[in-house]
Amino acid sequence: MKTLKIGLCGLGTVGAGTVELLRKNQAAVSGRAGTGLQVTHIGVRRDKPDVDIGAARVSRDIFAVAKDPEIDVLVELIGGTDTALELVLTAIEHGKHIVTANKALIAEHGNQIFSAARAKGVNVRYEAAVAGGIPIIKALREGLAANQIEWLAGIINGTGNFILTEMRDKGREFADVLAEAQALGYAEADPTFDVEGIDAAHKLVIMASLAFGMPLRFDAVYTEGIGSLTPQDVEYAEELGYRIKHLGIARRTDKGVELRVHPTLIPAQRLLAKVEGVMNAVMVEGDAVGPTLYYGAGAGALPTASAVVADLVDLARDLSAGQVPKVADMAFVDEAISDLNVLPMSEVVTANYLRLEVDDKPGVMSSVASVLCDKGISIEALIQKAPQQGQTTVPVIILTNEALEGSVDKAITELEALDTLYGEVTRIRVESLSA
Ligand code: NAP
Repeated sequence: MKTLKIGLCGLGTVGAGTVELLRKNQAAVSGRAGTGLQVTHIGVRRDKPDVDIGAARVSRDIFAVAKDPEIDVLVELIGGTDTALELVLTAIEHGKHIVTANKALIAEHGNQIFSAARAKGVNVRYEAAVAGGIPIIKALREGLAANQIEWLAGIINGTGNFILTEMRDKGREFADVLAEAQALGYAEADPTFDVEGIDAAHKLVIMASLAFGMPLRFDAVYTEGIGSLTPQDVEYAEELGYRIKHLGIARRTDKGVELRVHPTLIPAQRLLAKVEGVMNAVMVEGDAVGPTLYYGAGAGALPTASAVVADLVDLARDLSAGQVPKVADMAFVDEAISDLNVLPMSEVVTANYLRLEVDDKPGVMSSVASVLCDKGISIEALIQKAPQQGQTTVPVIILTNEALEGSVDKAITELEALDTLYGEVTRIRVESLSA
């Protein structure tokens, strides 16, 4: 029985967590793997005196790790896409299996990486890349292998969910909570990836490929952030029995696959509506199993390391049995992956929440209703708020029934042109989900 020799690049949050977890749970991990797991070579660009790396060799040049003839697997935990891609391709070229937590790398360059890995007969594992410690990749790739996946929807960015939770609980403004999230270390100094939905789009695209057997199509994801949400929208959604969550949604339809990340109203009694703070959750609907829910910590040193080490255990099990890992990296074998049509957002059908600021005078509501009616959009519910003292305009909140996105776009343009309407119409899509 051969010890799995690990080369690890990057000793930041996840790298240090991985080293710690391999040491802390050594007996349980090797007991499950059926072999030892040993970090023998570490690539860092500066010393990390706080991390106990045992007897591992240290190189300043991470590419020396990728080329080390002694290691079986390269664990890439440096983040980013440029150097990380070069590093991973170099390691594959040298016959190493790969474990990574890097969603941007897999979402943007996965097709190239998997193809290089197939050519070399090595595997690429990336459980930690989506929803941190939640074993959602394994669920999609293995646990749900009997199902036709119909759709999945996830809260897959903890920073965004923390901000929305605070806005709802305390009526706070987006910018104010974001500043606190940065101070607490939840949000990066540059929070763009989190609040604009790019990080969620990276994760969504990976899950969609696994669920539907399609190549990674990061370029095709519709992405909308949470920066323009107001505490008023959060409050009005509550009044209507909904909660606003920043969801990544992938759905198979007759016309194609929907890939979208945007703020979404979901009924308050749904399980996903109850996912609070920095926690993550993904709901997956399979045709045989029905709705399933996966919940847990989407980030943090040990939760993410939990997923990295699980991938290492999988590799160790297969390699110690003397076989190349049998589960395809992307769940489907190469010949079964097909380039499904991704629907443009204008062809997606959803219900909508619309908030308008209109003149508080007779006839205004009928002109609003007439614009919606002209575009084939019917109204499910409508709330007209009382005017604030001294104001002559009132907020009106409309819940529409399901309508084609393109028709709603046109209706919004016409509504904004009415001289009785002020400012822009706020639109938030509504999903009923199933559990
Ligand atoms: P991090 O704390 O910034 O750590 C990255 C480490 O890589 C740093 O120690 C950095 O060195 C090192 N590094 C970067 N470029 C390097 C290079 N060219 N040569 C040598 N070392 C280099 O990041 P992290 O939070 O651990 O994230 C690592 C990966 O895990 C990312 O892909 C991230 O998306 C993913 N991930 C993170 C979490 C989480 O909770 N943090 C969760 C899920 C997935 P310096 O210290 O010198 O800068």
